[in-house]
Parts: sequence; structure tokens; C-alpha cells
Amino acid sequence: MTPQKLLLLPGDGIGPEVMGEVQRLIDWLNAQGLTQFETETGLVGGCAYDADKVAITDATVAKAKAADAILLGAVGGPKWDPVPFDVRPEAGLLRLRKDLELFANLRPAICYPALAEASSLKREIIEGLDIVIVRELTGGVYFGEPKEITDLGNGQKRAVDTQVYETYEIERIARVAFELARKRGNKVTSMEKRNVMKSGVLWNEVVTRVHANEYKDVKLEHQLADSGGMQLVRNPKQFDVIVTDNLFGDVLSDIAAMLTGSLGMLPSASLGAADAKTGKRKALYEPVHGSAPDIAGKGLANPVAMLASFAMALRYSFDMGKLADTIEKAIANVLDKGVRTGDIAPAGTKSVSTSQMGEAVLKEVQALHG
Ligand code: NAD
Repeated sequence: MTPQKLLLLPGDGIGPEVMGEVQRLIDWLNAQGLTQFETETGLVGGCAYDADKVAITDATVAKAKAADAILLGAVGGPKWDPVPFDVRPEAGLLRLRKDLELFANLRPAICYPALAEASSLKREIIEGLDIVIVRELTGGVYFGEPKEITDLGNGQKRAVDTQVYETYEIERIARVAFELARKRGNKVTSMEKRNVMKSGVLWNEVVTRVHANEYKDVKLEHQLADSGGMQLVRNPKQFDVIVTDNLFGDVLSDIAAMLTGSLGMLPSASLGAADAKTGKRKALYEPVHGSAPDIAGKGLANPVAMLASFAMALRYSFDMGKLADTIEKAIANVLDKGVRTGDIAPAGTKSVSTSQMGEAVLKEVQALHG
């Protein structure tokens, strides 16, 4: 087994606490010879600003480019509210996404049976849910030019954002979605607004062509993004993989997140293009939640989103799907046994600390491994 390079960027707030639980799991996996991870740790976000007056140094970006995968905790917090805009903690994360061209954001929404009560939807609608939203992350209306507010001089202003997509951007995100579907339920639902937006017309056309030419074995459906949003809360289990643009993906993935109950449970992956020679993608894995300054340093954070992000790294960057399955099963078993951190514990019930949850998952991984 060749050593695999993992760059750990714990970041701020609860980031280092939840990353500690991943490090503990990696240490055990390495000791068992199940993995050969070489881990290195770096600074990103507010802690990088404190050390170097930037949100991430060039040296850390170089390490990120050289790594096989990056695990990130979370960045930000009120301590850094006063820092200049271009070196605010989030700038470190944005720079990583941009410099590594991480154009595909994957957000699974899984509803563990033991947590079905935590969802705002009825148990039968949500129990056993397992879907992934693939969001285009580097194009569309958040980046399109012109992007401006013009003073019209008559007491009125005009604001313009530009939704723009080119063929290659849609092709590459569609391929990520189809490849992913092949490893799951083999179905892709593409969402856009072709009824009112030219970018939606092109999106629909390109996804349809990529499907016909390369992925005929995968089932493809199209939905308008507004009715797709409605379907996502009406009957979410009809979906397997949803592929959509940056703006709709932002909204739809937050809706999907709430289906599952808690922010502390949700992992994500951001992937770049496949290397022409090796087929490997640059990849960053991180929990959906932020640095949770309200509970930072108290041992209250739920490490499951971070641990599940590591499981995604095993599956998508290291082709260790079985080990990823084991970790996900271990998380489900721990929840079945009623182990809960504060964010997922019903009011008035006992909850465990970050390290107790991490330890419970590790023990379960050890038991499943035999
Ligand atoms: P947040 O996700 O940090 O917290 C929202 C709420 O969820 C808080 O009450 C928090 O205690 C709780 N929570 C979040 N993760 C949890 C976990 N693992 N276990 C238990 N409870 C958890 O969002 P916020 O409060 O809006 O933002 C706080 C800071 O994080 C801000 O500076 C924001 O900019 C930053 N942020 C960073 C990222 C990122 O690094 N990707 C994402 C979102 C927000």
C-alpha cells in the first residue's frame, strides 16, 4: 500500500475538537494496517490570520495542492469580525476552492432511523432517506459579470447579477453526478429553470446530451428547480442524485440538510476535475456546519459530520468504499444505541461529550471490523 497524503486543516472554534476525533480514528486505522495515511496539519481561517495575517498562507495552499485529499474543520468566529474583508476567515476556504478548482460540491442528506424524530417532516417520509445533492460550485450567478449596483441618479439604483454557464462547466458537473449515481441508486435528477432562463435551457440540453452519449445506463429525470424544491419536502425518497447549478444548489442543499435534523450530522465533499493521467481528483472534505463559537472549547460539539466527511474521503478519494461503509454503519449503530451529543439529544435527556461520541464510533468500528 502506498502512503496517502492527508492534509488536516482543523480551523477555528469547534474545528480542532471535531478533527481530533478523526485523528484518533486515523491513528487506529493506521495502527491496524488498514490505511497508510501520512497526515500533516495546517492553519486556515482565523487561526491563520492570528499567526500570519492572512486567511491561508501560500505554503499551506501548496501543501493542499500536493495532498491526496484535504480535511477541513470549520473557519470563522466573532473574534475575527473586525479583520479586513480580504483576509477574513472565509477567504481561506474560498481560496482553497478557487486555487484547487473544486467545482463540484457533494452534500449527502441521510436520515438515520434513530434520528427521524429530529426532522421537521413525518417519520415515514424521512426515515431511511439517502440522497446526494451535487451543486456546481465555481460558476453561475455568484461569479458572473457584470455584477454591480449602479446609481441611476434619480434616487433609484439598479443591481445586476449575471447567471452565466458555459458548456464545459455543465458537462463536467453532469459527469460527476452520473458517475456518482452509478455507485449508488443509478438515478440522476437534473434541476434548472428552462421555462424562464436561457442558462436553464443550455443546462437541460447539455445534461441530456452527456447522458445520451456517455451514461445511457443511468436513469435521468429533469425537474424545474421550484417544483423540485417542493418534491424535496413532499417525497424526498424519490431522489437518488440531484444535480443543479450554484444558486439552486445552495438553496436546495440547505432544504435537504434540514430534512435530516441536525447540522452536526452533515458531511460534504468538494471535488475538482479528474487528472488526465491518474484519474484522481483534487478534493476537500468538510462538515456542513460552521465553527459554532457558542459551544467551542466546551467539548459539546458533535463530531459525526466530521467523521462522516472522513468516510466520504475514503470513498471518493481513496477508493475505500468498504471502510467508508463500516464507519457509516458504526455511526448508525451508535445512534441506535441512544448515544447522543447535546445537539441531537431530546430535551431533558443525557448527552455525551465530543470525545465520548468519537470514542463510541471508534469502538463500534473496531467491533464491526472484528
Ligand atoms: P454554525 O454552523 O457554526 O452554528 C449554528 C448552530 O449549530 C450553533 O448553535 C451551533 O452550536 C450548532 N452547531 C453547529 N455545528 C455543531 C456541531 N458539530 N455540534 C453541535 N452543535 C453544532 O453556524 P453560525 O453560528 O452561523 O456560524 C458560526 C461561524 O462559523 C461564523 O463565523 C460563520 O461565518 C462560520 N461558518 C463557517 C463555515 C465553514 O467553515 N464552512 C460554515 C458556516 C459558518
